[in-house]
Amino acid sequence: MSTTAPRIQVLLPLPAGGPYDYQYNFGGEDLAVGHYVAVPFAGRTEHGVVWALGSASDLPDAKIKTVTQKFDMPPMTAALRHLVAWLADYTLQPLGNILKLALPTGDVFTPPKRKVKEWLFTSPVPDHLPAALTPAQATARAAITATLGTFQTFLLDGVTGSGKTEVYFEAAADVLRPENNGSGQALLLLPEIALTQQMTARFAQRFGAPPALWHSGLTPAQRRENWLAIQRGEARMVIGARSALFLPFPKLGLIIVDEEHDPSYKQDDSVSYHARDVAVMRAKQESCPCLLVSATPSVETIVNAEREKYTLLHLPVRYAGAQMPTLNLIDLRKDTPPRQQWLSPTLRDVITKNLAAGEQTLLFLNRRGYAPLMLCRACGARVTCRNCSSWMVLHKSENLLRCHHCGRKEALPRQCKHCQAEDKFAPSGPGVERVAEEVTALWPDARITILSSDHEKTLAQNLQHLADHKLDIVIGTQLLAKGHHFPNLTLVGVVDGDLGLQGADPRASERTYQLLHQVSGRAGRAELPGQVFIQTHQPEHPVLQALLRGDRNGFLQMEISTRQAAGLPPFGRLAAIILAAHKEEWLHNICNDFARTAPKAEGIRILGPAPASMSKIRGQYRMRFIMMGPPNVKLQPLLRDWLRHLPRTRALRVQVDIDPQQFG
Ligand SMILES: [Zn+2]
Ligand SMILES: [Zn+2]
Repeated sequence: MSTTAPRIQVLLPLPAGGPYDYQYNFGGEDLAVGHYVAVPFAGRTEHGVVWALGSASDLPDAKIKTVTQKFDMPPMTAALRHLVAWLADYTLQPLGNILKLALPTGDVFTPPKRKVKEWLFTSPVPDHLPAALTPAQATARAAITATLGTFQTFLLDGVTGSGKTEVYFEAAADVLRPENNGSGQALLLLPEIALTQQMTARFAQRFGAPPALWHSGLTPAQRRENWLAIQRGEARMVIGARSALFLPFPKLGLIIVDEEHDPSYKQDDSVSYHARDVAVMRAKQESCPCLLVSATPSVETIVNAEREKYTLLHLPVRYAGAQMPTLNLIDLRKDTPPRQQWLSPTLRDVITKNLAAGEQTLLFLNRRGYAPLMLCRACGARVTCRNCSSWMVLHKSENLLRCHHCGRKEALPRQCKHCQAEDKFAPSGPGVERVAEEVTALWPDARITILSSDHEKTLAQNLQHLADHKLDIVIGTQLLAKGHHFPNLTLVGVVDGDLGLQGADPRASERTYQLLHQVSGRAGRAELPGQVFIQTHQPEHPVLQALLRGDRNGFLQMEISTRQAAGLPPFGRLAAIILAAHKEEWLHNICNDFARTAPKAEGIRILGPAPASMSKIRGQYRMRFIMMGPPNVKLQPLLRDWLRHLPRTRALRVQVDIDPQQFG
C-alpha cells in the first residue's frame, strides 16, 4: 500500500502569492491551518502560512513540492487570517499582497546573525499611576470596559483638553486586570510617527513601563523582536502606525484609533485601505471593542454614531477655567499685507503684542518650501516638473527647485523655455520659508524656526525647544497641527485660511474644518487663554463661519446633508480606478475602449475617463474613472468583472481604490 504524503495549500507574501499546493512529511507530525512554513518557490525559499488543508489541484505527487520547514511559533490566528481574506476581497487585491502586510519582515523566521540584546518587555502595571477621572470620563471608561470580550465600536468625542487620553489609558489598563481575564493586549494607533514619542513617554508614566512600538522608523532588529514579542503575547501594549493592525496579537482585547478623522490613516500605497475601517474589522474578528477617538470626528463616523452602529461617548470640557481660544477672521481684502508680503497689519500687531508679553506664536501655513511656484515675469509661464503635472517648488534654503510629487530637484533655470527671456523668473505665493523671511525682517530679535517635513532631522529638538520656551515664533505646516502640547503658545496665525477650500474634492470642506480646528487647538491651555487669527479672502465661507461660531455639529449636519444630496459616502458607495502609462495616446485609446465595457447596472454611475487630479506623475500619464452606486449595492463584483476587460500588460498600471478619499 502506498502512503501519499498529506497536502496543504500555502499562501506566500507575494503579489502572485497563491495559495499553492505543497506536500509535507514530518514523520507523523501534522500541519494545521495557520502554521508558518518554509517552502521552495521559483528556485528559492519563501516563508508563508498554511492557508487550507488538502489539495486544490489533481497534480500527481511527483509534481508537488515539499514543505521544507515548519516554524516553532504560535500559528497565525483565525482572526488575522480572516482579516487578510476580508481585506483582499474588499480591495480587489491578491491574497498574497495582503499577507505581505501581516508578514512584513522575513527576519522573524531566521535567528539573528549576532545575538540581539534581550529586548525587555516589562509588563505594564494597571495600577501604577491611574488617572483621577471626572464623572464623565469614568462613565465613558465604564462603558468601554463593560464590553471587553465582545465586539463593539465606540466614538469617544471630546475637544482638546477634555481628557480623552486618560479615558483610553484607563480602559487599556482594564484589559490587563485579572477580573477581565488579565492576559489581553491593547493596540493604540496614532496617525503619525512624530506623535509616538510624546505618547510613549506619557504611557510609560502611566503604566510604569514603555509600550512596544510598531512603525517604519524601527530598525530591522527592533521590528523582529517586537513582532515576536507581540506574537508570544509578551508585549501587552502596542503603540503603532496603521501597519500595526496586521500584527500577530494572540489576545487582542482593545483597539484604540486616536485622531480617527486623520487623512493619513488612508494612504495610497501598494494596497489602499483605511486604517479606521480595518481597525473596526479586526476588532470584530477578535471580539473586542474598538474605540475611535477625535475632537473633529469624520462624517462617516458621526453618521455611524447617529445610526447607533457606533456608541457615542461624549466628554464635555473639563476645566471650568480652560477657555477655548478666541477666534478671529482677518479679511485680507481690507486688511491687506504690503506687496509681496503675507502678514496683514492686524496679525503683525497681535504678534508684536504677544512677543512683548513673552508668549509664543505659531504661524500656520500648509506649504513647504519658499514659494509654491516660479513665474516668468515676461510671459507668465510657470516652471513645471519634467516628470509630473506639478509645479516646481522653490526651496531657497537649498537654492533649488523641487517637485513635491517625484522628488526631482533642479537648479533654478536662467532662461524661460517659452519666451527665451533671461533672469525673469520670480517666486509667486508664500511657503513656510518665505513667511519665515518676513518674520525675521519684522522681528529680528525673536527666536524663530520652521517646522515642516523638510526639517525632520531637527524636528524632535525643535519641538523640545518650543516646549521649553526657547523659541518665540514657529512657522509650521500641518505637522504641527496635531497632538503636541505647548503651554506658552497663546497665539496662532493662519496665514492662508483659504488654502484647501477650493477644488472639487468632496472632502475639501471637512478636511479644512478639521485642520483649522486642530491648529486653533494649539493656542492656549489651562491657565493662558489663546487667540487665533485666520487670514482669508472669503470670510463669509460656511467653513470659516462655522469655525467662528464654534458650531461643529452645525457644520457636520451641513456636510452630511450635502453628501446625502450628492449620494456620496456614507450615503453611497464610491470606487476609483486609475490607469497609468508612459504613452499618452495609447492610454487614451485604452481608456476609451474600457469606458465602452463599463457595467450597466441599476443605480450605478460611471464618471470618466478624465485626467486624474495629478495627470502625470514620474513620467506616467494618469486617467481616472469613478464608479458610484447606492449603499445597498456592492461595487466589488462589478469592478472585478469590468477590470477583466483591461489588457494584461506591464505597460499599463492599474490602481483600484475602494472608498477613495480624494477624487485623485
Ligand atoms: Zn517666459
Ligand atoms: Zn515630479
